[in-house]
Amino acid sequence: MNIFILSVGENIYSTHRLVQEAKKLKHNVRVINHAECSVKLGIGKPQIIFEGKNILDIPDIIIPRIGASVSRHGAAIVKEFEMNGVFSTARSLGILRAQNKVRTLQIMNRKNIPIPQTVFSINHKNINEQIELLGGPPVIIKLQEGTQGMGVIIAESKKSAKSIMDTFYTMNASFLLQEYIEESNGEDIRIIVVGNKIVASMKRKGAIGEFRSNIHRGGTGEIANLTEVEKNIALRATKYLSLPVAGVDIIRSKKGPLLLEVNASPGLQGIEAYTQINVAYHIIKFSEDYVREKIQKRNHR
Ligand code: ADP
Ligand code: GLU
Repeated sequence: MNIFILSVGENIYSTHRLVQEAKKLKHNVRVINHAECSVKLGIGKPQIIFEGKNILDIPDIIIPRIGASVSRHGAAIVKEFEMNGVFSTARSLGILRAQNKVRTLQIMNRKNIPIPQTVFSINHKNINEQIELLGGPPVIIKLQEGTQGMGVIIAESKKSAKSIMDTFYTMNASFLLQEYIEESNGEDIRIIVVGNKIVASMKRKGAIGEFRSNIHRGGTGEIANLTEVEKNIALRATKYLSLPVAGVDIIRSKKGPLLLEVNASPGLQGIEAYTQINVAYHIIKFSEDYVREKIQKRNHR
């Protein structure tokens, strides 16, 4: 099959691994830099132009690896492929939903998936009230579109919470407030879902003195044993976000597991190293099987 990996760089670990596994399974695989694709709409068939050629009709499968910096454009490219009948491991709608933490949490809350108590507002006059809604400090202040732990801040006192929120309001940065789950001890769980199945999971622990467990912030991982409730949260969350392939982050609290966020392009480096599971293979194999089944069904009609 023809597989496109939408990624800004061939040398990025996850991109490289997906290429490697796709080649092992004898697919034609190409890395397409979505940031360098143009879309032509209007008279005639739509086109996606990359390196001077229309590539819209080529792939059977696309695997978007879209980072925060060009996610809107990336999602638009994915949408164009989708409308052309190409299977994508992340739907464009899912990419946009997952990218914004408020959007994700709204959907999760509506579907009764447990999340930390969360407040969002754009009213700089009611900062006190917002903090009080969470029962007072300490509170977590998060940029709505941050990743890799950047833009996640803990405010131990009302005074520091207010000054951080004031700063963000002045900068017009969208953020949310969250209760601080102290008992998580700087740990969280990353679960990789591929096609409605959990293929790998790890517990991440923050560096000493760090409440954020992200590997990019110096955290380390180990294999996690998931409870049924945690498995259920991960599988439902990815379904509601239209993301056949995703990374789900869960924090363990006194109240039980709480969903933090969903990543539409989960990094493979940490999870493959800590669990020794070939996640890239699972992604390619799932996509291949899915598309093959779709073609067979079509031919039987
Ligand atoms: P990012 O997308 O930047 O990874 P997250 O919301 O996943 O943002 O937060 C980063 C890390 O900070 C989490 O993995 C977790 O370890 C910690 N964290 C996030 N929210 C909370 C919270 N409400 N209470 C305690 N720790 C948190
Ligand atoms: N790069 C991985 C992801 O975002 C791991 C993030 C981290 O723990 O820093 O999916």
